[in-house]
Amino acid sequence: MDSSSKQHIALISVHGDPAVEIGKEEAGGQNVYVRQVGEALAQQGWHVDLFTRKASPEQARIVEHGPRCRTIRLTAGSEAFVPRQEIFEHCHEFLAQLLRFQEQEGVEYSLVHTNYWLSAWVGMEWKKRQSIKQVHTYHSLGAVKYSSVEAIPAIANTRLEIEKNVLETSETVVATSPQEKEHMRSLVSPEGNIEIIPCGTDIHRFGSIGRAEARKKLGINPEEQVVFYVGRFDKRKGIETLVRAVGRSQLRGEGKLRLIIGGGSRPGESDGIERDRIEGIVAELGMSDFTCFPGRIGDELLPIYYGAADVCVVPSHYEPFGLVAIEAMASGTPVVASDVGGLQFTVVPEQTGLLAPAKDDAAFAAAIDRILANPDWSNQLGFWARERVEKMFSWDGVACQLSELYTDLLKQPAKTLASVKA
Ligand code: UDP
Repeated sequence: MDSSSKQHIALISVHGDPAVEIGKEEAGGQNVYVRQVGEALAQQGWHVDLFTRKASPEQARIVEHGPRCRTIRLTAGSEAFVPRQEIFEHCHEFLAQLLRFQEQEGVEYSLVHTNYWLSAWVGMEWKKRQSIKQVHTYHSLGAVKYSSVEAIPAIANTRLEIEKNVLETSETVVATSPQEKEHMRSLVSPEGNIEIIPCGTDIHRFGSIGRAEARKKLGINPEEQVVFYVGRFDKRKGIETLVRAVGRSQLRGEGKLRLIIGGGSRPGESDGIERDRIEGIVAELGMSDFTCFPGRIGDELLPIYYGAADVCVVPSHYEPFGLVAIEAMASGTPVVASDVGGLQFTVVPEQTGLLAPAKDDAAFAAAIDRILANPDWSNQLGFWARERVEKMFSWDGVACQLSELYTDLLKQPAKTLASVKA
C-alpha cells in the first residue's frame, strides 16, 4: 500500500494524554508510547488521530504533532484531573464525544488501537456501533497488578472482565514482550490473537551525548560514580529497594557515590506522598549528602542524565515493558533491573546489564557494585546495550511492525462477537 492510500486510524488513550509533559504521576510509558507510535505511523502515511480525555480547561482541544498526526482532547466528566480508578464512569461520555467528533469531521476510521483497559472498553463499544477493527495494548494487566497489592479496588472485577473480553474479541492484542504474552495466556484467556511487538525508543535522541560531555553539562565530576533512576513516584516502582541497595553499597565508604532520583511529583497527591517517604528513607540511612531529586526531567535533559550515569536502575516490582530500561541502554548505559516482566526481555544479564530479584536490596547492591567497580566491563555492557536497542527497539522499527499488522488486519473480514463465540 502506498502512503497516499493509507487510511484514517484512531489511537485511544483515555487516561494517558499523549500531548502532555511526561514524568508526572499519571504520565509515563503509555503517554510516550501513544505519542511516538502515532507520530511514526503518520510518517509512514497513516492519518492518525490520538484521542484522550481533556483534564483541564486550559488544555487545547486539538494539538497538532506534525503532518497527519494530532491529539484530540474530548470532554468526559469535568475538565479536571480525575484519578485513573475513577475514570471508567466517564467512558460512556467519552465514547459519545468520540462518535460526535467523527461525525462532525466527516472522518471514517477503519481501525482503532486502544491503550489500557479503559480505552479497551471504548473500542469494544465502538465496534458494536460501526465496522471497525480493534488492536489493543494493555500497558498493565489487572490480573498481574492485583496479585501484588494488599487492597483490591472495587473496580477490579469490571477491569478483569474487560481485559478478558478485549483479548477474546479484538482483532489482535499486542504484547510488548514474550513475558507479557505468557501472562495474558495464563492469567487472562487462552483465546484471542496475540502478536509480540515491543515498545520502542528514540535511538537518535538517546545516545547522542558522551559521558564526559554529559557530566560537564550537569556539573558532575568525572570520578564520581553515578547511580540513576528516573520514573514515576509510585510504590510499585520499587525506589525504596534502590535507596536501600545504594545505602548498603560496599563502595559507599570511598565517598564517590552519587544517587540521582528523577521524576515529578505533586505535593499532597499519591506521588508526592511516595516522594516524601523516599526522602525520609534517604535521610534515615544518612544518604542525603550524596542523593538528589531533580524533579521531572524534560525531553532536552533526559538524554544528558542517561549519558552521565554509570548505571541506571529499574527496581520495579512488576513492569510489562519498562521504557526507562531501553532509553538507558540506547544511551550506552548499563541497566540493573528487577528480574520481572518485560525487563527480562529487554535487559540481557551479563550482556547489557544485570537482573536482580525484585525488592531484594542486597542483590541490587551487589549488582550495582559489580558494575561500578569494573569500568571496562561496564563500558562493554553499555556498548552491547546500545547495539541491542538499535537492532530491536527503535520507534521506526516498532511502527513498521504495527503498520504491517494494521495493513494485514484491514484486508481481513471483521471479527464479530458472533464469530468469536462460534
Ligand atoms: N519520564 C520522563 N521524565 C521524568 C520521568 C519519566 O521523561 O521525569 C519518562 C521516561 O523517560 C519514560 C516514561 O516516562 O519514557 C516512563 O515509562 P516506563 O515504561 O519506564 O514506566 P511507566 O511510567 O509506564 O510505568
